Amino acid sequence: MTTTTLPAYDDAVAAFEPVIGLETHVELGTKTKMFCGCPTDFGGEPNTRVCPVCLGLPGALPVANKAAIEATIRIGLALNCSIATWCRFARKNYFYPDMPKNFQISQYDEPLCVDGYLDVEVDGRTVRIGIERVHLEEDTGKTLHVGGATGRIHGATESLVDYNRAGIPLVEIVTKPVPGAGALAPEVARAYVTELRDILRGLGVSDVRMEEGSLRCDVNTSLNRPGEEWGTRTETKNVNSLRSVERAVRSEIIRQASVLESGGRIVQETRHFSEETGDTRPGRSKEEATDYRYFPEPDLVPLAPDPAWVESLKAALPEPPRVHRKRLQDAWGLSDLDMQSVVNAGAVELIEETVAAGATATAARKWWLGELARRANETGVELSAVGATPAQVAELQTLVDGGKLNDKLARVVLEGVVAGEGSPTAVMEARGLAVVSDTGALTVAVDEAIAANAAVADKVRGGNLAAAGALIGAVMRTTKGQADAKAVRELILERLGAN
Ligand SMILES: [Zn+2]
Repeated sequence: MTTTTLPAYDDAVAAFEPVIGLETHVELGTKTKMFCGCPTDFGGEPNTRVCPVCLGLPGALPVANKAAIEATIRIGLALNCSIATWCRFARKNYFYPDMPKNFQISQYDEPLCVDGYLDVEVDGRTVRIGIERVHLEEDTGKTLHVGGATGRIHGATESLVDYNRAGIPLVEIVTKPVPGAGALAPEVARAYVTELRDILRGLGVSDVRMEEGSLRCDVNTSLNRPGEEWGTRTETKNVNSLRSVERAVRSEIIRQASVLESGGRIVQETRHFSEETGDTRPGRSKEEATDYRYFPEPDLVPLAPDPAWVESLKAALPEPPRVHRKRLQDAWGLSDLDMQSVVNAGAVELIEETVAAGATATAARKWWLGELARRANETGVELSAVGATPAQVAELQTLVDGGKLNDKLARVVLEGVVAGEGSPTAVMEARGLAVVSDTGALTVAVDEAIAANAAVADKVRGGNLAAAGALIGAVMRTTKGQADAKAVRELILERLGAN
């Protein structure tokens, strides 16, 4: 292996053209599993939400969940796909302990939805992402490898398996390869997953929580020199946040460019993204393609959605996120550029909810794009996971508007909220941060300031009102910024007989 220093990202995309592709798995929010009546709620004692069907016991027969089929068709329609008039489930055979039946019911060559697209906006430019297919399958169970240092199977002393998740309806959405994004490929990948998440949320088909795994993303990346054929692609797994989608593509572009520049070749393989290091590590090699021995599932009847039903689902689709955003932009009075920065910060819904909780759009935008965005950036988390809720931000602004907090104190209160100390009012009271406008308490501080700055006080008495600024500053210092500046000024002038 040749030792090379990693090229800079700019050099990598100057020499090579990236082609990306995304496979997204979405756990549907149906009440019951795909082929049985077990509940689908997240968590729960291991192996308590199971039955003979999802445990694959002999003789148990699956029955397809109509709500899951409806949700999948709605996803396909929202992604401009054609809906199959007739298709079948298929058995994907593999032996792995997270799959109690030793096969997964999936769809193979007859997916429910095919050939759609999703437009995303990046850097003021619209990029059309082709959708290859949207199909329905069942989720696997979860394995837990204990006793080792890494949580991986290597080095573990034992492996535990939880089948609560086995059989939860899972939709797989596969894009066509996306060439031509150039240096913007990482942003395009992120914009796609963001837009897809917003669509799924708007459809109400999933809670789309990447951190809980209800939205999971695999990112394919390859590089080729301009004019040459597409290169060998790698598939990066474990990409569990929007930010990681972007980072994973970027780091894989840099890594592949480094290999290619030094005369090496890219191995077709699965790689794992590490949140800690921000780079990808090799996993399973895919040079020998796994043979899953797919065949049509004999225990289920084919799916033949009535075209009239599909039409009625199409007519009832919610407003697409892009249209919704345009409406918000108009309501908030933002320029295209300002709205773009709101979108880029992942703050659209946060601001929308903050406004719904009573704040003005201007105030909501100020907090989310200012203090909270800065904090999210510093700690490397999504804005939505920064630790403050829209309701809390609205409450904070109410305290400012009501004169209980000034801007500086509000920022300190927000720190407490983010640190989990409670609501803005609770933090303000617990830390004693409220603005002091109580005349009794301020008079003492004002008299002290006058006594300590006799010369300045004389100037004010003599009619130089501008000199009062120095006294106000002294009071603010002794009250640690908590005095109501306007009340202090009035008190000073009153005490000095200058008003
Ligand atoms: Zn079950």
